[in-house]
Amino acid sequence: MQDQAIHLLLIEDNPLHSRLIQRLLEGEQQLRCEVEVVDRLAAGLERLGRGGIDLVLLDLVLPDSQELDTLFQVHEAVPEVPVVILTSLDDVTLAARAVEAGAYDYLVKTHLNSVSLGRAIRYTLARVRARSGEWEAPMFRLAQQQFLKAAQIMALDDNIRQRLLFPQRTQVVSFPFFRDDRAQVETVFGYRVQHVLSMGPTKGGIRYHEEVDLGEVAALAMWMTWKCALMQLPFGGAKGGVRVDPTTLSDRELQRLTRRFTVEIIDMIGPDKDIPAPDMGTNERVMAWMMDTYSQQVGYTVPTVVTGKPVVLGGSLGRKEATGRGLVYLVQAAAEHIGLDLSKSTAVVQGFGNVGSYSARFLAETGAKIIGISDVSTGLYNPNGLALDALLEYVAEHRVLKGYPDADEVTNAELLELDCDVLALAALQNQVTVENADRLKCKLLAEGANGPTTLEADDILDERGVFVLPDVIGNAGGVTVSYFEWVQGTQNLTWTLEEINARLKSILLDAFQRTLRRAQAEQLDMRTAALIEGVSRVTEAKLLRGLFP
Ligand code: GLU
Repeated sequence: MQDQAIHLLLIEDNPLHSRLIQRLLEGEQQLRCEVEVVDRLAAGLERLGRGGIDLVLLDLVLPDSQELDTLFQVHEAVPEVPVVILTSLDDVTLAARAVEAGAYDYLVKTHLNSVSLGRAIRYTLARVRARSGEWEAPMFRLAQQQFLKAAQIMALDDNIRQRLLFPQRTQVVSFPFFRDDRAQVETVFGYRVQHVLSMGPTKGGIRYHEEVDLGEVAALAMWMTWKCALMQLPFGGAKGGVRVDPTTLSDRELQRLTRRFTVEIIDMIGPDKDIPAPDMGTNERVMAWMMDTYSQQVGYTVPTVVTGKPVVLGGSLGRKEATGRGLVYLVQAAAEHIGLDLSKSTAVVQGFGNVGSYSARFLAETGAKIIGISDVSTGLYNPNGLALDALLEYVAEHRVLKGYPDADEVTNAELLELDCDVLALAALQNQVTVENADRLKCKLLAEGANGPTTLEADDILDERGVFVLPDVIGNAGGVTVSYFEWVQGTQNLTWTLEEINARLKSILLDAFQRTLRRAQAEQLDMRTAALIEGVSRVTEAKLLRGLFP
């Protein structure tokens, strides 16, 4: 289910109909709506004027307004807010005219059920999104701003700068999959973006999340380029995603969606072209289905088309926990640099998915006391320390952390501001902003998520002397072991876990030391230093290859 509620304004004068619609919305599983109801147009216009409404459900025939004029007045007041018309069977012709005049859809009140109402709302919002600039994602702005800052400091060649600001290839697909009842067909948007093709095949995860759009995927692909270059892996950056909430899908639906998405992007991917991996909302099972679908299409098994597969299918030992493990290797190096004794320290981890849970586990193994943790359902705080095994057991049984007995509940905002030595961010983007950066109390901020800190917040943290392990280093453990998986697959050999962890550690620490040296020598924050390391390598490669034709 989406994180934020959709704010609906229902303008309907028949109380029976408005109650029916509210009841249907409560019964709809995939939407979280907050509905406000008014029974006159004047009241509706007044409410719209105050802002915050995502969608209007509009009866055209009201005591104070009639027919298309009702729609025109709403459009005039809030041209950007989509309108779905509610009509009775006798007025369908009028409703159709309203759609011609700019309403997104119409719904016949007597034929409504939760599914049709929910779908009309979801599809309308998807169309609004598709019409607005897909590139206009805050994350893509952040990725571009960070890059431009680094480019300016390093006096990057202007031609290269322009070249790197946008991805080289993008594919947007809209594709269907069957719901389990086989009656409903769901249509969703999917993306695959390849940022730089000059460094070798492109590499990056596939994200399933209800907020995914082209801009977000493009930002993540750009970060993959810098990450791979900084780790000196022979890959350019890519990323993919499907705009869907995977928690609302059954296993079979997830499998059908994954297989169809794989076929939609099949011309872009391949073991020598572009190699997907797991990201938020996907896992090794999703990778197994992608690999199987690709293999079915080409007629033989191609394990190296994805990484992050189950080990039995050619996945690498240590890949699942690699991002968390890598983050903690780096936290250890950073702690040593700032003179922090981890065995006497306290840590807070935001997120309890793959990255968060493994980060917490490995942090605890260093002797750090985990005093705060969170997931989508809640934040937990216990100054005496949280027992990781008990948390994992609780989540295995209850799916989420909410209700865990041995801790106090805290909000996400409170969690970030807890007094601690290490704060590991392993959840969403855009968490540390100008709003809260000066209230963070940690000494070391370790970014396991992509894009959790804004540019303004970076400046504040830098001024306050908080040591930041930026995402392009912090979470690079995942793609580094993905690289090992690809190498083992292409050569048909396997490495031991000890060998993998040792290689991982050496690659990460080498990148960390190079970044730290640059940061110190050029008086830069760690993020800018890391980006300059990455951008320099890509630039050198591009200049050496020259320009075709
Ligand atoms: N999705 C992960 C990341 O953001 C891993 C990508 C990969 O393994 O290719 O780095």
